[in-house]
Amino acid sequence: MLTGVHVVLAGGDARQLEVIRRLTELDATVTISGFDRLDMPFTGVVKADWSPEILADADALLLPAVGTEDDGTISALFTERELTLTDAHVSVLPKSAKVVAGMAKPYLRNLCEKHGLQLVELFERDDVAIYNSIPTAEGAIMMAIQNTDITIHGSNCMVLGLGRSGMTLARTLQGMGARIKAGVRREDSFARAFEMGFKPFYIADLARQSGNIDLLFNTIPTMIVTAQVIAQLPLRACIIDLASKPGGTDFRFAEKRGIKALLAPGLPGIVAPKTAGRIIANSLTQVILEDRGQRGSAS
Ligand code: NAP
Repeated sequence: MLTGVHVVLAGGDARQLEVIRRLTELDATVTISGFDRLDMPFTGVVKADWSPEILADADALLLPAVGTEDDGTISALFTERELTLTDAHVSVLPKSAKVVAGMAKPYLRNLCEKHGLQLVELFERDDVAIYNSIPTAEGAIMMAIQNTDITIHGSNCMVLGLGRSGMTLARTLQGMGARIKAGVRREDSFARAFEMGFKPFYIADLARQSGNIDLLFNTIPTMIVTAQVIAQLPLRACIIDLASKPGGTDFRFAEKRGIKALLAPGLPGIVAPKTAGRIIANSLTQVILEDRGQRGSAS
């Protein structure tokens, strides 16, 4: 339970609704700012203007997935007003408070560092990345279905990177009957891909492996699907790039060659905001409870 814990939510999207629901269930004291267009009643939740005073006794400030932009803007879907995280806001937070976001840009990192506040980037946590890989894989497959005229079943798929997202995606595609080629850079990843029934290859060999591919999914956050690789892909291929912006694909060359290439950021929040919100809520709860020497459950 989070009895006596005060959490302030600033901005965000539909994912935050699930977080609010979960926090109130756990008896936390919840203040929300940037939700004035929200009609849904949340019993006991205080709606407040985005002024520094609301942070004075906060145990945690929850920001949206991207934290803030580099000018301090907090994205807030449920208000017309602009929310900005300023020095004045952060300076009011108690020193024991945590600032929590999916990820942080330098602006947010610098502010927290300046004020000696602990910044928690939830998406960096292994457990969160693995839970998030489920809606990410489903979203990637949704995009694949929308952008091809063949079934996933029987298709030739290539997955680049067998990390937390790539592994879930490759296995889900395989479960749907696709043939999977997996691009990796380490020998242990190669062996694991082989064990799982994928056709592994080393990334250094990517261009040579790229003929006869229907769907190429990239999860490697660096320029990897280069013009040289795209030149080897058949024209029917569709590239779905999941790696964080700007992705790992030469989109200019793909367009020039007439190959469909899509950057697909933020899939969990788009295809499954409720699930994605629950993942954030569980992880936030765990972060707070860990600090208090208790353990939460992510279920
Ligand atoms: P991860 O677990 O770190 O996996 C990244 C993979 O890329 C690892 O297998 C890593 O190989 C490989 N890799 C990194 N640099 C490489 C290089 N230079 N050459 C070859 N392989 C390389 O990360 P993740 O959680 O799966 O996330 C992957 C990307 O997707 C990130 O950019 C993340 O922000 C993004 N993401 C996007 C969404 C979305 O909705 N689009 C959702 C979640 C995550 P090693 O194992 O050998 O290190």
